Amino acid sequence: MKAFTYERARDAVAAARAAARPGAKFLAGGTNLLDLMKIEVETPTHLIDVQDLGLDRIEKTKEGGLRIGAFATNTALAADDRVRRDYGVLSRAIVAGASGQLRNKATTAGNLLQRTRCPYFYDTNMACNKRKPGTGCSAIGGYSRQLAVVGASSDCIATNPSDMNVAMRVLDATVETVNADGRTRAIPIADFHRLPGNTPHIETALHPGELITAITLPRPVGGTHIYEKVRDRASYAFALVSVAAVVQKDGTGRVAVGGVAHKPWRVEAAEAALPQGANAVTATLLADARPTPDNAYKVPLVERTLAAVISQARTA
Ligand SMILES: Cc1cc2nc3c(=O)[nH]c(=O)nc-3n(C[C@H](O)[C@H](O)[C@H](O)COP(=O)(O)OP(=O)(O)OC[C@H]3O[C@@H](n4cnc5c(N)ncnc54)[C@H](O)[C@@H]3O)c2cc1C
Ligand code: SF4
Repeated sequence: MKAFTYERARDAVAAARAAARPGAKFLAGGTNLLDLMKIEVETPTHLIDVQDLGLDRIEKTKEGGLRIGAFATNTALAADDRVRRDYGVLSRAIVAGASGQLRNKATTAGNLLQRTRCPYFYDTNMACNKRKPGTGCSAIGGYSRQLAVVGASSDCIATNPSDMNVAMRVLDATVETVNADGRTRAIPIADFHRLPGNTPHIETALHPGELITAITLPRPVGGTHIYEKVRDRASYAFALVSVAAVVQKDGTGRVAVGGVAHKPWRVEAAEAALPQGANAVTATLLADARPTPDNAYKVPLVERTLAAVISQARTA
């Protein structure tokens, strides 16, 4: 691990100002960042520990939704009574991820920003445009079984690994931030994660030093909430494919898919086909899919996972 300096921030704007300096990074639960520092994939020169900012409350908004503090732990968020009752898809997605110990430490903002699990990203001997811009992509023409089938580019075919993000996308969450100059922003989750294009190292809409302070959820939409995750092992494994769905009694609803793209994949036009079944939804959702020979299995897997979700919703 490379040497770094460390401070514990007491104020959100001061933390954002400190993080805007080159080489500085926020430290939340540390469950992703510290792992990456140990293998020198991330080499920050200064860490700003943001756990003391008090941004960990989960509160009702005046619009009838929920405001989740950036540093609410994954455990606290998944266990919150209001989340379990009104946003069940979020609770289910979070507990489908990692392990109990990790979820006790991992935070909402950290989960939103966790980095890809592409194997070449973790191997500093291999070319990777995301880790080192302009070096090439070892996954293209390499081992790509877990990687993206849609929205990828000729520079990067990585996926976003988070389960929580897929549920946040289906719930139309908004990411609240503060900048180094004290200005705040509200970024719709649909615009928060980026597709790789020719800048795969720029993963989100955040500006340098911008601190996530909260995530807000709109008022509950009812319906049956389902999160279905397909993985190599029954637990403690990242999704090959996952589906977050909110399905209403008349068969209409919302669907977002994980494990297939650089961001949680939701195509609102595909949702119109939900009452017609999984085949019709997948045809629009993955119309632009360009899988590799290694990961072509993901296209029928999305359809089958969606079929299972629709069938569960009918019998709920
Ligand atoms: C063995 C293992 C298995 C896992 N399995 C899964 C899984 O199945 N599904 C899943 O979804 N996840 C899984 N995870 C990932 C885990 O959920 C993430 O590591 C965790 O959510 C990150 O949260 P953190 O608070 O520890 O973030 P940190 O590691 O502290 O930070 C992550 C990144 O976010 C930045 N950051 C943190 N807070 C803010 C903020 N407020 N504003 C701006 N930037 C910020 C940091 O600078 C850093 O770049 C797994 C992790 C491990 C180690
Ligand atoms: S897919 Fe993206 S993360 Fe993986 S090696 Fe290629 S550039 Fe790096």
